[in-house]
Parts: sequence; C-alpha cells; structure tokens
Amino acid sequence: MPAAAGPAGTARARAEIDLDAVRDNVRTLRGYALGAELMAVVKSDGYGHGAVPCARAARQAGATWLGAATPEEAFALRDAGDRGRILCWLWTPGGPWREAVERDIDVSASGGWALEEIVAAARATGRTARVHLKADTGLGRNGCQPADWPALVAAARAAEAEGTVKVTGIWSHFACADEPGHPANAAQLAAFREALAVAERAGLDPEVRHHANSPATLTLPESHFDLVRTGLSVYGLSPAPEVGTAAGLGLRPAMTLSASLALVKRVPGGHGVSYGHTYTTPGETTLGLVPLGYGDGLPRHASGAGPVLVAGKWRTIAGRVAMDQFVVDLGGDLPVTGDRAVLFGPGDDGEPTAEDWARAAGTISYEIVTRISSRVPRVYVNENTGGDGPA
Ligand SMILES: *Cc1c(COP(=O)(O)O)cnc(C)c1O
Repeated sequence: MPAAAGPAGTARARAEIDLDAVRDNVRTLRGYALGAELMAVVKSDGYGHGAVPCARAARQAGATWLGAATPEEAFALRDAGDRGRILCWLWTPGGPWREAVERDIDVSASGGWALEEIVAAARATGRTARVHLKADTGLGRNGCQPADWPALVAAARAAEAEGTVKVTGIWSHFACADEPGHPANAAQLAAFREALAVAERAGLDPEVRHHANSPATLTLPESHFDLVRTGLSVYGLSPAPEVGTAAGLGLRPAMTLSASLALVKRVPGGHGVSYGHTYTTPGETTLGLVPLGYGDGLPRHASGAGPVLVAGKWRTIAGRVAMDQFVVDLGGDLPVTGDRAVLFGPGDDGEPTAEDWARAAGTISYEIVTRISSRVPRVYVNENTGGDGPA
C-alpha cells in the first residue's frame, strides 16, 4: 500500500499524537484532583508532543492553567492565541520580564533579585505583575530557602502595597514524589505549610497554592492545595512504575513513533551489523533497516536493547543505533521494504511503550518522548474533536 498523504517526511517516520488521549488524560487527572485546578505543563514543546496543539487540547478538557519553563515557551503559547492563565518559572537576570507582564503571563520569583526585576518591569509598563513566589521546601533546586523567605515575602508585600505586584501564587516542587511514601514528601509538605503560614502572616493572600507534579497528583491528595501541575501524565505516561502503569492509572499514551523499513535483505550467518560490529548474525537471516537514529532523538544507549514491533513481533535493535538508522534482525520472517516498524505507542496493538524504551536505555520515559527531535514530523490525530476551541 502506498503511504498515506501527510506532512513532508512522514513516509520515513512520524510521531502520531492522539489529541483525544491528551483530552482524556486531562479529564482523568482532574478526577484525581477534585477541588483543585489543573495546570497542563507544556514545557520543552509539550514533552516532545507539540506544545501548542497539546495546550489547546488540554484547555478543551478543562485545564485552567498552562505551565512553561522558559519565557519563550510562554510567549509561543500567546502567539498561538492562548488567552488563559500561563505560569512561566525559569528566569535569569535580565530576562524578558517586561514582555511577560505586558502579555499577561504569571511569572515566578525565587529570590529578591527576581522580584526587583519584576517590580522594575511593572513600573515600566504601568501594569501590575502577577507573581508566584517559589519556596525551596527541600528539592534544593530553584526556590527560596526558608532563611531568606521572610525577606522575600516582605518585599513582595511592599510591592503589592505600591501596586506593582500581586502575589497570585505561592508554590514549590517535589524531589521524590515518584517514590510514594518517601520521607522527603511529607517533610516537603510540612515545610510548604510553614512557608504558607509565614506568607499569610505577612499579609499575602495568594489565589493559588501549589506543590503537586504528576506523581503527587496521582498518589498524594494532601499535596493538591488549589492547583496541580501535571506534565508527563497529560501525555499519558506514568511517572514511575512505583506510581502505577499508565493503564492502571487510567492514562493513555498520546505518542506513537513509527517508521517505514528502508530496506529488507537476506544476509548470511556471521555478518557484522552496524558500527563496531557489536552484533553478528547467528545464521542466515533477514535484516530490516529502520530509518531513525540518535539524530531523531533515539537514545544511543538503546543499542542492542531497544524494542520494535515489526510484522507482529517484538524485535531488539541489532548492534548500534547510528545517527539516522538502526537495524533489526527479523530472523526467518519476511516483511518487505516499506513495512511499518512501531517503536513505541500506547501498546494496544502489541507495540512497546515509551516505558519499555526507558528501561532499555536506562532512563525515564520523560526523556524518551521529550528527546524525539524536530526531524520527526508530528502528525495530529483527533485534532478537531474537542469542542469549540481554545478557552
Ligand atoms: C516539569 C515540571 C512539572 C511537571 O512535572 P511532571 O512530573 O511531568 O508532572 C511541574 N512543576 C515544575 C516546576 C516542573 O518543572
């Protein structure tokens, strides 16, 4: 059968993104966090799924917030017409605060320097900046340490009094929520409650208090507060095996990565395969060439290990993953050039999942989907089944 018409390059390989799955996942996650609002985190191009179409689908399913890491990601959502609340949290000195304030984006401050830059941007625009103050409750990454928190809170309260800032959020982030029962989780929540109490005593009255990522949304109701920030689970993947399987959690993986076999050929036994000859055919066999490699975002660490569904069976990558291609040993089976190889998907048709790839490459499914590069065309399925359009 000839390949169906589609975006340029889809005959070689494509990442199909099922936007109905994104909508269903958002609805499912809202069910886990009843009483809280939901932020769909669409950083890093929607974990590789395409930030704009996934954001639109998430809005249709009731996400009242979008989350972006960099200001550029937030601006791209506005450029695409999104008018809802957007939080953007990864800032550096001299960042485009003014544009963020002008474009109605909620920004985040983890220290006094950031608040000062926000106040300056607000003064320059004549608008009130919406700020989420971030506490470090134990992650040890971004966020304000408890010792510096009272000063940050006081400075924010002073800026509120002069009308340059409104503290719309107080928030933090978990270190170990993907390990349910880890003692750091309870310790972080206790530290967060303390940070909230300090802020309230100083006169702050945030609209949303938020601490939960996907694993906490799925396993730790006391972390939900007013808003949950879900990323990976929006795309239908489980944050960790300890949290549950995607199906067990009611989630549906949205991305299916597949390619057409670029070549199928018979080779004799004892034939080395791919760079370094780390695989040698055990006997006469059929090799299939899959035209995807680390230039497409596949992990080279999946060499000799990554699973692929070809002609109804799981095959293992034979030898090394190269920049543009890898080989599978098809044994006695005889698929033909052009047949489809499915690297991962929801698993419905027996294909591997991103979780299987994560295991094969010694990483997490977050990295598997996020790294799929722009060389692989995204093809959107069920793009227009979600109702009236973006909020
Ligand atoms: C990425 C991120 C999230 C989403 O995490 P998931 O585990 O993908 O749900 C939430 N909050 C912050 C600050 C993040 O950086």
